[in-house]
Amino acid sequence: MCLTRNTLIRHAEDLVERFSLGRTGCSINSMNAADTASQPVVTEPATEARFTGLLGEAKALQPKTVALRRRLHKNPELGLQLPETQAAILAVLADLPIEVTTGDSTTSVVGVLRGSKPGPTVLLRADMDALPLTEETGVQFASQVDGVMHACGHDTHVAMLASAARVLSARRDALAGSVVFMFQPGEEGHHGARYMLDEGVLDAAGARVTDAFALHITSGAESGTLCFRSGPILASTDDFRVTVQGKGGHGSAPHRTVDPVPAAADMVGALQTALTRRVDAFDPAVLSVTKIAAGTTTNIIPETAELQGTIRTLNEETRAQLRAELTRICEHVAIAHGCTAQVNLTTGYPVTVNDPGATDRASRLATGLLGERHVEQMADPILGGEDFSYVLQEVPGTFAFIGACPPGVQPDDAAPNHSNRVCFDESALATGVSMYAAYALDTLR
Ligand SMILES: [Zn+2]
Ligand SMILES: [Zn+2]
Repeated sequence: MCLTRNTLIRHAEDLVERFSLGRTGCSINSMNAADTASQPVVTEPATEARFTGLLGEAKALQPKTVALRRRLHKNPELGLQLPETQAAILAVLADLPIEVTTGDSTTSVVGVLRGSKPGPTVLLRADMDALPLTEETGVQFASQVDGVMHACGHDTHVAMLASAARVLSARRDALAGSVVFMFQPGEEGHHGARYMLDEGVLDAAGARVTDAFALHITSGAESGTLCFRSGPILASTDDFRVTVQGKGGHGSAPHRTVDPVPAAADMVGALQTALTRRVDAFDPAVLSVTKIAAGTTTNIIPETAELQGTIRTLNEETRAQLRAELTRICEHVAIAHGCTAQVNLTTGYPVTVNDPGATDRASRLATGLLGERHVEQMADPILGGEDFSYVLQEVPGTFAFIGACPPGVQPDDAAPNHSNRVCFDESALATGVSMYAAYALDTLR
């Protein structure tokens, strides 16, 4: 995952836009980058007043935020059952005026903070799970669990959301409505958000959630920068396995066999051709065959060959189309070779689609909080996936990235998320805390 190139492009676009606005006589603020960095652009004066001190409050909580993050980092857990992580979350929420419930089928935690006045319900989400990697960062608080590491930064998400819950609890009088805090296990391929939706997280406050927001940390963007994108931001993530059945025999006499190897090889080519011939060139999609396996030695034609891979798309129609093409092509190429093919598709996450209104609002809030210099618009989506997509299929909202590239490293050179050497700059956490809180405060104004 790398945002830097997009970021630079967007900087250039911003400059062009700013200067062209200036030439047509628009506001002075929009002409001068230095001014906007030191004097954040605030579209609504009332918003500015309500958020006064928010970043300072988040910074004051930094020792607590970091302590929780490091506690989780030392004790990472995988999948849907994360009892230690759940216990840590329950402990930090215990002294807050938040109604807490835990999941039935997973170790999820849902908190509800009721404002002093009635109003809508906003959901803030943090995922909780780690990855099966052996940490090699050398940090003092490195994982103490063999083969498990918080390499996607979900420990930081939990810590930021817990501190945001503290900030919002102290500002309860300013809230007209409720906040649902969604602490979610099993994001890394386990569909944890789906379980929480099935258990009613969107109705946890007694009124349906109307707006949802999530942050994801990345070492691939400048520390403290928030990165937004309207529309699709992450891809659908389906995987496939194709088993080609032939008839084995002696390597010297292929005419007496039905060789599955050339059939499998033709499938690889045919699938790539389908991608360019069947999908609109302006609709990005990826189909990668990432594993191909057949045979045991040089003089045996095997009975079977197997292909595995992944399909990534940015809209659900193309996703359905490519799933169908894959099955059709593999089955028919197999027939052309006298083989058969069995296609197994594993349904991954849907496309993560950000609501334009929510995204624009979050972006403006971030600008008001942090100054224009720390807010980026991503030119392109990323073809990774996210199960917050399930939430965004149900309610409008937005998913944003928060940069946490370590000091002294360029974002392009930083070990990326999912690397066992990835490090995140903890000073960015206060930014995330204040952004979570600002989003809720603005929704429940
Ligand atoms: Zn991840
Ligand atoms: Zn992640």
